[in-house]
Amino acid sequence: MFNMSENEFLKAKINFLIEKISIYEELDANSKAFKILIDKLLCSNPTNINIEDSKGIIIHRGLPDEFIMCCECKKYLNNLHYNYYNNRVDDNGYLIRINNKCLNCS
Ligand SMILES: [Zn+2]
Repeated sequence: MFNMSENEFLKAKINFLIEKISIYEELDANSKAFKILIDKLLCSNPTNINIEDSKGIIIHRGLPDEFIMCCECKKYLNNLHYNYYNNRVDDNGYLIRINNKCLNCS
């Protein structure tokens, strides 16, 4: 038969509670880290849809590191000289250009 002194029983109970508290503390820290990550991702959300109303999230790598020739002025320019959609992503996860014209020519 299982026999424990009252002291041993209390120690076991305290250890059990300490373990539970550490699990909750870890969960709390994880949920705070997760909320920070979600806030960071949602700040690039151009639609202002509330998280409660959303059905999915578009995750992207930002602007592609590319030099493209403008179809109008024929200059090779980097990504800062073009407009990109905030919610359309190519096969590699980068934002898609709105058109092939640089900002000056648009
Ligand atoms: Zn141009």
